[in-house]
Amino acid sequence: MDPTGRVTVPYTGRPEDLKAVDALPMGEADLICRRGVWLLQVAVILPHPAVHEPIGGFLGVDQGVANLAVTSDRAVLPGPALPGPIGGNGHARTLRERRHRQRQRLQKKGTAAARRVLRRLSGREHRMMTDLNHQISKFVVREAERTGRGVALEDLQGIRGRVRAHRFQRRTLHGWAFAQQIAFTRYKAARAGIAFLLVDPAYTSQACPDCGHISRANRPARGRFVCARCGLAGHADHIAARNIATRGIAGWAAINQPHATGLPLARRDRESKPPAPASGS
Ligand SMILES: [Zn+2]
Repeated sequence: MDPTGRVTVPYTGRPEDLKAVDALPMGEADLICRRGVWLLQVAVILPHPAVHEPIGGFLGVDQGVANLAVTSDRAVLPGPALPGPIGGNGHARTLRERRHRQRQRLQKKGTAAARRVLRRLSGREHRMMTDLNHQISKFVVREAERTGRGVALEDLQGIRGRVRAHRFQRRTLHGWAFAQQIAFTRYKAARAGIAFLLVDPAYTSQACPDCGHISRANRPARGRFVCARCGLAGHADHIAARNIATRGIAGWAAINQPHATGLPLARRDRESKPPAPASGS
């Protein structure tokens, strides 16, 4: 400690974060203490690359509860495509179900001790979902980048109160996690110069991507899609992802043709981003 009371301490971090702190203009920094560990959170200003033309079309991503994301390329996430111990979908699902039961038990109990355990649990669950969303969005954006495509997801904001009994309305348990996946995908796409679109979610799960036939009858069983007109059959989430990808292409075309008639199907991400924290990837 020098006479003014100032302390000089070494710090460490992931190589990519240290590099960012070295190379990029810095915003605010916060020193925080979490369970006795001091963390320095530094905001850096990331360069905003120009958005590449999605020459390969769009990668569509359908969000769900059982599978947090299914892409139009048939990647089921979390799944073997993701690295690490939480890559296996079965594990993540089992863990979520176990937590859910544990939470119900504790809520019934209602004691101060039970409330403490609940708070700790929700923190852990929050971190697990956040980690999964980071991995999923990273995978999706990398795939789009590798194949020269943009990324399209369903616009959650347009859903409430508009489409009756839309499947998202049954997904209240982890509603925030869907919004988070969108936010993560959006900023990772912006960072990579990848086109990002939110598309109209109406009937993405009932429309046939081959012939365009829309019907409730196209969904004969849970998780299954069979077109009543042309017979196209498949995994319902994958079919939805294909519809989302198609709407991404249509939305992009509408936005980029200034003289096109009609309303764009999708909202393009235009706003500039505030500095992103160096932590998290
Ligand atoms: Zn069809």
